[in-house]
Amino acid sequence: MAEIRVMREDLLPPKEPPRRHLISIGDLQRDDVERLLGTARNFERSLERELKKLPTLRGKTVVNLFYESSTRTSSSFELAAKRLSADTMSIKSTGSSVDKGESLKDTALTLGAYDPDVIVIRHPQIGAPQLVARYTGAHIVNAGDGKHQHPTQALLDLYTIKEELGRIDGLHVAIVGDVLHSRVARSNIQALALMGARVTLVGPPPLIPRGIEAMGCEVSYEIDAIKAADVVYVLRMQRERMQEGANYVPSLREYAARWGVTPERLRPGQKVMHPGPMNRGVEIDPVVADAADALIEQQVRSGLVVRMAVLYDLLTHGPAGVQAAALHEIGAA
Ligand code: ASP
Repeated sequence: MAEIRVMREDLLPPKEPPRRHLISIGDLQRDDVERLLGTARNFERSLERELKKLPTLRGKTVVNLFYESSTRTSSSFELAAKRLSADTMSIKSTGSSVDKGESLKDTALTLGAYDPDVIVIRHPQIGAPQLVARYTGAHIVNAGDGKHQHPTQALLDLYTIKEELGRIDGLHVAIVGDVLHSRVARSNIQALALMGARVTLVGPPPLIPRGIEAMGCEVSYEIDAIKAADVVYVLRMQRERMQEGANYVPSLREYAARWGVTPERLRPGQKVMHPGPMNRGVEIDPVVADAADALIEQQVRSGLVVRMAVLYDLLTHGPAGVQAAALHEIGAA
């Protein structure tokens, strides 16, 4: 008679699926991005047609924890959560116990006591989102950690490009300016490469990290290189992240003269993007910023529906944040 063997694993209750986070674009596969962009598009349509509020996340709690200034990201996450009927709480470092020196770990434990479903965090230090993931039971969304990642910015940029140009695959995007200090550049290089776009980084050598081509992009130190692109993505000069005394560029005036995106440096029909906030007259000429081919306001509009899609995706089906979830499972996050 055949022996029946019961494996010990079979006797265990099924494991809970790992908690999903969105910490880096590296957490996503191409399918995940396509699903998120599709969900954002559905939300956009439904908001056009029906009431602005959907009952989808009723009873869920979303906490926005911002340790760095923000206008677009914090407002759009808050509105996104409200449009989906979630309860929201917004905590800024100024005016909270962070001012009194509370550590991020203690703040995370405190907020975790309310059992939030999602914590959206922006922090000047790389790795802060993983720390909050370790000390709370919430799904974590990275809204910018130092110069590392800003995944929802990259997703809203992909969404804007796709809506405007009909595709991402095969497009050529030039990312211009202060790549060295930019989390937006890092997230966008990864996201655009994942979706099949060609990326050229353009800027002065001190602002382009050595070896960055390994992320799947090209580099040019000639501003004229932007003319070849379908989309020109202008980065802000991140003065707050530049080390004091370090001379990345001789002066902002000289930077504007040599690297500023002006009407003369563009080809008719090229689309221009900027994550905001803009330094008009430094990295971008005001005429370019206000021209019909600038997609800057559209990026802000996309931010709302893309962040609705991210919240929805994390709290319903998945898998957003595959890599981050795996990290968490092995105790590294
Ligand atoms: N708002 C974007 C960020 O938080 C871009 C910028 O600040 O230049 O990274």
